[in-house]
Amino acid sequence: MSDGRRDVIVIGAGAAGIFAALAARGALDAKGAFAVPGPGAPSVLLLDGKERPGRKILVSGGGRCNVTNVLVRDRDYDTDAPAVVRGTLAGFPVASVREFFRSRGVHLAEEPVGKLFPVEGGAKAVLAALFAALEEAGVERAFGAEAGAVARDGEGWLVDGRPARRIVIATGGKSVPATGSTGFAYGLAAGLGHAVVETVPALAALRCGTPERLAGVTVPAILTVEDGEGRALGRSAGSLLFTHGGVSGPAALDASLWWARARRGAEGCRVRADFWTLADPSGPWGGFLRLAKAPGSCMADPPSPADPRAVEEFLLAAARRMPKGTAGTALAERVPRRLLECLVRGEGTPLSRLTREERRAAGEALCRLDLGVLGSEGFAKAEVTAGGVPLRELDRRTLESRLAPGLHFCGEACHATGRLGGFNFQWAWSSGFAAGRGAGAAAMGAG
Ligand SMILES: Cc1cc2nc3c(=O)[nH]c(=O)nc-3n(C[C@H](O)[C@H](O)[C@H](O)COP(=O)(O)OP(=O)(O)OC[C@H]3O[C@@H](n4cnc5c(N)ncnc54)[C@H](O)[C@@H]3O)c2cc1C
Repeated sequence: MSDGRRDVIVIGAGAAGIFAALAARGALDAKGAFAVPGPGAPSVLLLDGKERPGRKILVSGGGRCNVTNVLVRDRDYDTDAPAVVRGTLAGFPVASVREFFRSRGVHLAEEPVGKLFPVEGGAKAVLAALFAALEEAGVERAFGAEAGAVARDGEGWLVDGRPARRIVIATGGKSVPATGSTGFAYGLAAGLGHAVVETVPALAALRCGTPERLAGVTVPAILTVEDGEGRALGRSAGSLLFTHGGVSGPAALDASLWWARARRGAEGCRVRADFWTLADPSGPWGGFLRLAKAPGSCMADPPSPADPRAVEEFLLAAARRMPKGTAGTALAERVPRRLLECLVRGEGTPLSRLTREERRAAGEALCRLDLGVLGSEGFAKAEVTAGGVPLRELDRRTLESRLAPGLHFCGEACHATGRLGGFNFQWAWSSGFAAGRGAGAAAMGAG
């Protein structure tokens, strides 16, 4: 820093920016080991517009912070470059995240569907561990300092007049603006010539034409996002909650991500629901049916929805088993009564008098219901922003812009959006590490 420049300025002190700052200082290695840097380490300034940053960490997972997941793969993300996601995740994998937090006193424990949460202290413990690491690593901080202008300065860059050899942009997306997310990275990247992928709210409830009377009903469901030709473009499987005006819960939130992706490339997309497969006690969700509370996340590999004929056969078998029962009584063994009353024609008809047409309609309603999705809730409530700075325009190892050398991007600002279950924080840790390490090493090389 002999010429007054910082080696690296990181803009944004969320999960990605904090990891980028630690990695740029050389305080963090690829295995998650933390060490106080020596005197020759790169100088790093971490800027944030908020006086008290890290607000998204504090609100995450209902205040419990779902730090990561035991199984994280590139297919858990909506992105333009799965190979870059794969490489970035491999460069700082789940094991390294666990090791970093363990060494900082935050032990993570596994919950259903692989989610990892702090055993004690929740999100506050996570944030405290990160801030303590910044302090020990000697990262200079300026909070309450919103960055405005980022401009080239010879070989380096200027952030509101502050010179630096390298800049890391970790300003997040646009969702929940009260946490400091203003979409800053998108405007900056577009101004530098990046083809920013259209940003849309994701991991958000879906607005749709489901009957109002269903509000409050929770069911396990498989949701399939289809294009206009009926081809499946994405799938989620987990708990679904009917609301006033739509659907929410993990299955809907995950489907909103695949729906956002599908709509980028296809016309006439729809979301179909199967309420039959996961309701089978001997099926893949069977273990969760006995829990008082369904897992707040989806299955890693959603099964295919049932063929509607499975319901027809169930009704024929039920007619033999309980000749005096109605279709509703039989189907209620698996599916909530309120759902049947709203969706199944002939629900009150005795099984023995149910027509073939009614059986077929029941199968369609329970295995292939078109939810009539109109859109998703906006950025005010969406957990993440899908779209963003395309990874294919960044260096695959350091996430440095190919169009603006010296500028690195990481975290939610990038076009890599994970599904529900800890995948977005994992991307923030891994990409923050890659960008920070790349920026720190390059700054020293240049020095
Ligand atoms: C309610 C909710 C719950 C969530 N729960 C989970 C969960 O349990 N698990 C999970 O994996 N993901 C969860 N997520 C998603 C996850 O929080 C984000 O994907 C992740 O925090 C993104 O990290 P980031 O560092 O890229 O961005 P952010 O955390 O958004 O941080 C960006 C920072 O940049 C600052 N900033 C922005 N512009 C400027 C500027 N111009 N100058 C200076 N500073 C600026 C902001 O103030 C902010 O501090 C949740 C999101 C929400 C909204």
